[in-house]
Amino acid sequence: MQQNRSDVALVTKAAAITTPTHGGRAKCLQRLVRLDLPIPRTVALSFEMVHKLASGELSDISDILSTFEEEDLLCVRPSSESPDWGGPGAVLNVGMNDENYRKLRSSLGEQAAAKIYFRFVQGYSVHVARLDPEIFDHIEGQGKSALDEALTAYEDETEGPFPQEKSIQLGEVLRSMARVWEGTTARLLRQAKGAPVDAGLGLIVQKMAFGIGRGECGAGVLQLVNSDTGFPQITGRYRRQSQWRDALSTSQGTLFLKRDARGLSLEEACPEIFKTLKKHAELMRLRLREEMQIEFTIEDGTLHILDGVKVARRPRAAVRIAVFLAEHGIISKKEALMRVDPLALGGLLHRQIAYNAPRDVVGTGIAASPGAATGQIVFTAEAALACKAKEEPCILVRRETSPEDVRGMHAANAVLTERGGMTSHAAVIGRGMGLPCIVGASTIRFQTRRKQLVAADGRVFEQGDIITIDGTNGEVLSGKAEMVEASLDETFQTLMAWAEDACDIEIRANADTTADAQTARNFGARGIGLCRTEHMFFEADRMTLMQEMIFAKSRDEREAVLDRLLPMQRNDFIELFRIMEGSPVCIRLFDPPLHEFLPSDRDGLRDLAEALDLPLSDVIRRVDGMSEYNPMLGLRGVRLGITVPEIYEMQTRAIFEATIAASRENNVVVPEIMIPLVSAKREVELVKSRIDVVAAQARTKSAISFDYRLGVMVETPRAALRANEIALHSAFLSFGTNDLTQMTYGLSRDDAGRFMGTYVKQKVFPEDPFHTLDTEGVGELLMLGAERARRSDPDIVMSICGEHGGSPESIAFCRKNKFDYVSCSPFRVPVARLAAAQLAISDQKN
Ligand code: PEP
Ligand code: MG
Repeated sequence: MQQNRSDVALVTKAAAITTPTHGGRAKCLQRLVRLDLPIPRTVALSFEMVHKLASGELSDISDILSTFEEEDLLCVRPSSESPDWGGPGAVLNVGMNDENYRKLRSSLGEQAAAKIYFRFVQGYSVHVARLDPEIFDHIEGQGKSALDEALTAYEDETEGPFPQEKSIQLGEVLRSMARVWEGTTARLLRQAKGAPVDAGLGLIVQKMAFGIGRGECGAGVLQLVNSDTGFPQITGRYRRQSQWRDALSTSQGTLFLKRDARGLSLEEACPEIFKTLKKHAELMRLRLREEMQIEFTIEDGTLHILDGVKVARRPRAAVRIAVFLAEHGIISKKEALMRVDPLALGGLLHRQIAYNAPRDVVGTGIAASPGAATGQIVFTAEAALACKAKEEPCILVRRETSPEDVRGMHAANAVLTERGGMTSHAAVIGRGMGLPCIVGASTIRFQTRRKQLVAADGRVFEQGDIITIDGTNGEVLSGKAEMVEASLDETFQTLMAWAEDACDIEIRANADTTADAQTARNFGARGIGLCRTEHMFFEADRMTLMQEMIFAKSRDEREAVLDRLLPMQRNDFIELFRIMEGSPVCIRLFDPPLHEFLPSDRDGLRDLAEALDLPLSDVIRRVDGMSEYNPMLGLRGVRLGITVPEIYEMQTRAIFEATIAASRENNVVVPEIMIPLVSAKREVELVKSRIDVVAAQARTKSAISFDYRLGVMVETPRAALRANEIALHSAFLSFGTNDLTQMTYGLSRDDAGRFMGTYVKQKVFPEDPFHTLDTEGVGELLMLGAERARRSDPDIVMSICGEHGGSPESIAFCRKNKFDYVSCSPFRVPVARLAAAQLAISDQKN
């Protein structure tokens, strides 16, 4: 064989082997050879060679066989470019036949020889001859009689003898593995894991080290960290008289690696081998700059290293491993940042269902707010409050939520709604609070009057029954599930600090309450990018005042109620300024239609009539008069600000008074005030002139000077189109991508859940546009708006504050278009920060 031919390359220190031509496993084995580890003789077949094998172009494999001794048995394993893309299963003991059986019987003993042959017959039958694995089910043991039965089973099924020629065996194994890789199923599977359509496969042919035979024989795996926690811990198993990774498939007869009170260990049985193995693992960690799992075999007391694979790890372990490797000087901080998946990081911020816990799934919906919780079903906010009083965990189940339910959401441990999408009320509030939430659970029938949920399989859940909500993947489970707690330890904080240093776009948080602001601060948000002030009116006492204000018959009457709300708002803002310690706080003036603060059911209407001391009929008439056919596109946002100016006046007065109060405490506060739902320049002019008057009054009254910045929320397509003139009156523009998506698609954000699953499945939309920013359509409006606004004011501050703000794709979009910051729910701040850091690092590399 020509060893410099890279199609069939003997794995030596100098061989021309690269990951893009021979795959990750081949490259890794070469690195291990360079470390002088005891690797059995190995040949790496290139992607090109394997492709030729698959298309039947190559039949001569003598080049490969000539590298090995006549009597060598071989093992074949896949080597794709990325280990995550998978590949066909390994086939062991290639070359085993009747003659070799006889030879091995005299050298290793009958039992060992039979076991080795049996394994090959089984592997060949299933992987190459494609026989049903069940044909071996009746066979007991792996001795001589088992071998005879296996050979007979093969011959019966194929109506031919088991191949005895090594070259034929190897040729068939290689061809079969090559073809499997090119098959449609494997192609789709790996594409789903991010592999390119034409990803290649390399193959490894390695001399077998026998873990079966005389003396100390066996096989196992070892790694230096715990895959669940990422903490240093020698983990793995060793099994005598076994091959490959058998030690992991059963706990019976396996040995611990390190000395262990529970049973015999390799450290005790073979102390020298254990010591060497550990040394090899440490060397691999250092030189391969990664936590590796070693696959090893002991053959008659001699240690062989067959392979090294990247240690599989849970997200919390991924963070620790990356941070520890960087702290030990093995990788750089930037590399550590690149090694953690931002989306997986999101899982660490919440309680989650344990990875291997059994799941009795009774329905699914949109995973609107991550984390998991178990509790009894309640159908009303009042019942949730009652549970909270008794300290009983509960899940609030509603058709959809409205401001009336917010108190119930605070009391509940999770929320489940029948309707809604990623940006509907329950989803937005849930994410802000860090409350697990599933919306649009259309596979379940909600019979809220009968206080029942009916699952697709007919199971009925009553009020009080226990369910579990998995807001991370949208599954509703019957009963309790085992949980793992959130993990925000020191290594997490370290990684976040490194991300902050690498980040070149600001990450702010959408925070409406002091609790949200505190969370945002704890996660290191650089400010508040959106404070939805209406959420401050959800407290019970404020809600009643709001309702009184809505029912006021005259401007005077309305102002009287607003005067009572003003000190409450002022205190809210003082608290926010205090928590944010001088970082920017962007306060959005009142946005929703007023009817959202009014009850919709009869009981609520009666309570309201009682609270306002009005006849029920009056209340019903007024509520009916206010309800809109499409509640998202009527009298709300700036339209309300212009037609009922007292509300904005009260809010801006509260903001300025809070600014003055905060300035007295030595915090320089420059509040940002944002006008929602703008579609015309004149709206901004009108609101601005009124705010200027309120500011002047506040300055005169307090004799304290302050500045403020006025901005516009661009969330109607017209505002984006007319951004050039709107920019003239604005210090900043913040794109509200929730409403902008809704209006660009003409698709109600509250009803999207009903068909979104079908739409995504049928590829009408590549993703839910309320979840992943539609960079083509909505994105074009953003770019167009930004470009037109910059034409009027090149320095205008630009951001997005819709729910998309935290996702890696939108951050990439914002960085590319030179936006100044993104704002997202507080719990997404770490995810956004890591994603932004990774994008900045990748840009530097390129
Ligand atoms: C938006 O529309 O993108 C937004 C942030 O505002 P809201 O979700 O409150 O409508
Ligand atoms: Mg909006």
